[in-house]
Amino acid sequence: MITEPHVNDYINSLSGDLPPYLDRLEQYALEAHVPIIRKEAQSFLCFLIREYNPSRILEIGTAVGFSAQLMAEASKGTVTTIEKVEMRLKEARKNLKCSPNADRITLIEGDALSVLKELEGPYDFIFLDAAKGQYMNFLKEIMRLLPVGGHLLTDNVLQEGSLAGSKFAVERRDRTIHMRMREYLYTITHSDRLDTVILPVGDGMALSRKI
Ligand code: SAH
Ligand code: MG
Repeated sequence: MITEPHVNDYINSLSGDLPPYLDRLEQYALEAHVPIIRKEAQSFLCFLIREYNPSRILEIGTAVGFSAQLMAEASKGTVTTIEKVEMRLKEARKNLKCSPNADRITLIEGDALSVLKELEGPYDFIFLDAAKGQYMNFLKEIMRLLPVGGHLLTDNVLQEGSLAGSKFAVERRDRTIHMRMREYLYTITHSDRLDTVILPVGDGMALSRKI
């Protein structure tokens, strides 16, 4: 956790209730250790969706379909979401099929690296929440799919805050992920095609707007 737990708890105590079906899915995910979007980041994501009112949302990293349904609740547009792991897909198919917003959610099965290449934009809001070491590899296609004025929200960019620590304090595997994430963050904060702010919300989020 980046912010102190009691600060987080306090913020979360003020956030509104989820619809019961999402509340149940969140409970399930927490128990099954599925890494879904954190409470404090949920409020931020929903706020952004209501504020920007995108007509086509793209999510990279469905897991069991929690955030896809959350975004559908917050918007009037469509949500396209990509997942590659069969174990997750099994749950996602089931959850999205009986979602109250099923008619506005499309699940695409496959590796985002290849799926993105096949997609036709524009998607005016993109939620990037997949394998943290791959963000750099998705960026080219994301830039193609995102229209000028469109928003990209990237999750888990601070890795519990450890990304900002010494590179010698982390395990070798994490060191590679950190290196890649730092490269991604440097790129999106220094690109002349993106305006980006990095926020210590949840596990760290980067909000970018294409310019
Ligand atoms: N957005 C979800 C959580 C996603 S967890 C929520 O908040 O409810 C990240 C997911 O991305 C995992 O289920 C993982 O299997 C998936 N993933 C990772 N790399 C991927 C890739 N290259 N293509 C598609 N899915 C990927
Ligand atoms: Mg995440």
